[in-house]
Amino acid sequence: YNGKLQHSEKMEILSELAASVAHEVRNPLQVTRGFLQLLDSKAAMKEKEYLKLALTELDRASAIITDFLTFAKPELEDITVLNVGEELSHIEGILIPLANMQGGVITLDVPPNLCINGNSSKFKQAFINLIKNSIEALTDKGWIRVWGYEQEGKVTIHIQDNGAGMDEQELSRLGEPYFSNKTKGTGLGLMVTLRIIEVMQGEIKFTSKKGVGTEVVVRFPSVYEKAM
Ligand code: ADP
Ligand code: MG
Repeated sequence: YNGKLQHSEKMEILSELAASVAHEVRNPLQVTRGFLQLLDSKAAMKEKEYLKLALTELDRASAIITDFLTFAKPELEDITVLNVGEELSHIEGILIPLANMQGGVITLDVPPNLCINGNSSKFKQAFINLIKNSIEALTDKGWIRVWGYEQEGKVTIHIQDNGAGMDEQELSRLGEPYFSNKTKGTGLGLMVTLRIIEVMQGEIKFTSKKGVGTEVVVRFPSVYEKAM
């Protein structure tokens, strides 16, 4: 009997199930949101109040899906060689509008030949969650720098921001389910991210200083693509 293995099998089943549920739930949420907004445009004062609450709760449900399952696919796990630079520039493209809305800029500097083994959807989910946290921490004149290189057989990726930062106590709680300092946070993003990085044989480290910023370092075993 191996307690640990059983636990990871359960997690596997859970994540497959969650992925297919998310896909099914997204559409009706969007449709419902549309109708509520339509009602809101015609509603009286009192009703508007209830509609506002209903919309807030709907958005909360969407946030949970985003943190958990944006890129989760209901297909069986597909492990391939991932080009880290390509994956990260795709993610950057998705997040630039969000960063701009916060008045922040993202810079990305990753050489073209960094490769690791992994699942593209899961990799995107993990790094979207990390960079989204940086964006959400930004205040004035915010910036996020993402860079990567290879060192001692490991692909190393840094994500640094000049956002709100964290104290020791907050740092020690990262990844704990439902730990969030945000009014609209889910506290599920890092839980999912840490799990994905662990499954991909990676390591993650956070350093942070309150009022100064945060740096995340993620390392994965390198893969050297042979010329065919
Ligand atoms: P959520 O983003 O929904 O709050 P997460 O699990 O993604 O949940 O993050 C948990 C908490 O960790 C956040 O609420 C925030 O307080 C803190 N955190 C994570 N990343 C950063 C960061 N780059 N800068 C400042 N705080 C962060
Ligand atoms: Mg988050």
